[in-house]
Amino acid sequence: MDRQQEFVLRTVEERDVRFVRLWFADVLGMLKSVAIAPAELESAFDEGIGFDGSAIEGLTRVYEADMVARPDPTTFSLLPWRGDTQGTARMFCDILNPDGTPSLADSRNVLKRAMAKASDKGFTFYTHPEVEFYLFEQPIDTNKLVPIDHGGYFDHVARPAGHDFRRQVITMLESMGISVEFSHHEAGPGQNEIDLRYADALNTADNLMTFRTVVKEVALEQGVFASFMPKPMTEHPGSGMHTHFSLFEGDRNAFHEPGAQYELSKIGRQFIAGLLHHAAEITAVTNQYVNSYKRLWGGAEAPSYVCWGHNNRSALVRVPMYKPGKSNSSRIEYRAIDTAANPYLAYALTLAAGLKGIEEGYELPDATEDDVWNLTDAERRALGIRPLPQDLDAALQIMEGSELVAETLGEHVFDYFLKNKWQEWREYQNQVTPYELKRLLQVL
Ligand code: GLN
Ligand code: MG
Ligand code: MG
Ligand code: MG
Repeated sequence: MDRQQEFVLRTVEERDVRFVRLWFADVLGMLKSVAIAPAELESAFDEGIGFDGSAIEGLTRVYEADMVARPDPTTFSLLPWRGDTQGTARMFCDILNPDGTPSLADSRNVLKRAMAKASDKGFTFYTHPEVEFYLFEQPIDTNKLVPIDHGGYFDHVARPAGHDFRRQVITMLESMGISVEFSHHEAGPGQNEIDLRYADALNTADNLMTFRTVVKEVALEQGVFASFMPKPMTEHPGSGMHTHFSLFEGDRNAFHEPGAQYELSKIGRQFIAGLLHHAAEITAVTNQYVNSYKRLWGGAEAPSYVCWGHNNRSALVRVPMYKPGKSNSSRIEYRAIDTAANPYLAYALTLAAGLKGIEEGYELPDATEDDVWNLTDAERRALGIRPLPQDLDAALQIMEGSELVAETLGEHVFDYFLKNKWQEWREYQNQVTPYELKRLLQVL
């Protein structure tokens, strides 16, 4: 038993915890949870807890259904919404095969592998996500969504629900050791944004799983409905998860170089070049639903074209303004990812793409300072600016041919993901939509 594990056992005892939830993500990034009694903890740390993986999206093939979840004691936290007495705690788990080897279907492990590769080169990957989501009135009527307010970007909305909402989410997150940097009303009515303080990508991905759960819990408590759907309303902006990336070598920010253009080092430039080069290949994962493409192509500051710029909010990659004297804050912002992505897989692939840029020494094309949406197709072509995939079908076709994605996800996750998403695409494609009926039924 190591010190972390002893700490967990002691805390469970001292705080009178009655249930310990073991958390992990399936291949699509849905949270899975199994509660164990405190008496089971020691053996959970030693051998893990066995479960039938065949019923969980993407975890096993039916003929190898036994899986093991082993909790990571460094992720232990009490769940504040379950109360202080006879409480509940949770830990994230690694998924293992019955013989104790890491499961190839575990997306947390996919990210760990990608980070280990970065670490072999001396890098730690840091991420800072800006999470957007909508709040709707209950009960939900999918034919007519009613946002809880009419606020816009940075509006101070006096309506108590939305305002206290962010405050309550942040208080809960901070009590769980997750720091929040900013929060504000977003551009859409009822749309909010909460930005988590930067942390290494594995912690960030764990924190995002917690974040979604906390937002749902607070919404339940306040009688509103929270949704991370990428584009819930045709006429309003979608919800993205722009993420700021940096690589550190020890204490030093490897993206910072005094005197360079935008104070961005060669490593930073190559990382961007890698992201741009592989952006189309990784989009099926960073934007994994049919609906994700309604956001990407729906305007409202979601990126549709592969280019980068300094402070250019139409670009896929933005280099934020450098804050003098703050070399650690040098970073780049990748704007495609949406809030419904599996954060483990999305960060594994963005890291792999950036690292590839460094390994291969990709040249970074010139920055685009124009608003790329205002250019004509011909102008964009002349500038070498390609579009991101326009729908899930196109994204999957590009992903299928990607060595980088296959290698980073591993064969099992790669195959399962493609199979699952092709099925989603076919199902969607077969639908006769309200749009078609409205446009055609009575005129034809
Ligand atoms: N909601 C926009 C998106 O989907 C982002 C708006 C913003 O933060 N500038 O990407
Ligand atoms: Mg923001
Ligand atoms: Mg925003
Ligand atoms: Mg942003």
